[in-house]
Amino acid sequence: MSKMISSKFISASEPLLKGNEKKYLIECVKSGWISSQGPFIKKFESSFASYVDRKYGVAVSNGTIAIDIVIEALRIGKGDEVIMPAFAFISGADAIVRAGAVPVLVECDPFTWNINVNEIESKITKHTKAIMVVHNYGLPVEMDLVLEIAKKHNLFVIEDAAEVHGQTYKGKKCGSFGIISTFSFYANKNMTMGEGGIIVTDDSDLYEKCASLRNLCVNKDRRYKYDEIGWNARLTNMQAAVGLAQLEQIDKFLTIKESMGKQYTKLLKDISNIQLPIEKTSYAKNNYWGYGVVVKDNKLSAAEAMKKLFEFGVDARPFFWPIHLQPCFIKRGLFVGAKFPVSEALAQNGFCLPNGLALKKDQINFVCEKMHEVFD
Ligand SMILES: *Cc1c(COP(=O)(O)O)cnc(C)c1O
Repeated sequence: MSKMISSKFISASEPLLKGNEKKYLIECVKSGWISSQGPFIKKFESSFASYVDRKYGVAVSNGTIAIDIVIEALRIGKGDEVIMPAFAFISGADAIVRAGAVPVLVECDPFTWNINVNEIESKITKHTKAIMVVHNYGLPVEMDLVLEIAKKHNLFVIEDAAEVHGQTYKGKKCGSFGIISTFSFYANKNMTMGEGGIIVTDDSDLYEKCASLRNLCVNKDRRYKYDEIGWNARLTNMQAAVGLAQLEQIDKFLTIKESMGKQYTKLLKDISNIQLPIEKTSYAKNNYWGYGVVVKDNKLSAAEAMKKLFEFGVDARPFFWPIHLQPCFIKRGLFVGAKFPVSEALAQNGFCLPNGLALKKDQINFVCEKMHEVFD
């Protein structure tokens, strides 16, 4: 294994840290502001919020806890239901279940890999509190219908926008829809601070509530007195410093992602037994946060293909595992008998090729050459 990780090894997602990251970090160290106090936090919160057309931002330690805080702030709990996709990263479902509420799952579309919006309304009951949309792999969810249904039934829309920094739906920024949205800045996202997240909203009460929950709900007048049970989900000034430097470069990062996606599609499109990401829909261009491929026949499984790629030094990653098949939820008696064939097939047959921002064009050529060897 250690032999594999040579200079030739192509990792799944290596970030690009060539802007002001180092300069701002040195400022943190020189000034002594390395904790969650310090000027980069506020600067980052307001810059990122305004980048996604929101009034307020609450920086937190990761994109998962961002959703926990949002669920708590919206008072979603025991007896409530939240509609969400069956095929998505696990954080949203974790937060809903942890709060004592129930995720009500909806099948996804086989081509966009996002929630099938036409199936949402039939899932609404008198217990439904919210619709949580998750934009998967870089293509936004079809928002118009979601917003219309939410309005008609008086439901919150929560947007998990962890994979779509800078992406737009009909020209409007992802992360600006619904009552509240969250992002992650983990190392494999469109922009990173290693670990980190943010909650964005236009609602001042929700903003106050989330900011308080992030900091243990400490009483405003007396230190060490706590009004509610919160979290320590604070971000450090150092992380915000890296985040601010990354945000300065986001347009460039998105251009790189898009051109990587196009290069992959150009070089892979004549492999007949794999399905490639949609290039665009009527409402958005794909910006390929993740470049996913789905194996179409049974000659070679996705797992076997990934194993062969790994032997060539290429680190591919499997698709998400569906929510209803997660051991942690099955153990709790959730989703008994649930079937979502499209989501299950994607989980089984899909994988992502390396597309970190530091990846070079000739490395993509190499990956595609190996993909042809594996599949032709
Ligand atoms: C990455 C991701 C998260 C989790 O973010 P972390 O910062 O890793 O906790 C949540 N939702 C989606 C859709 C993600 O892609």
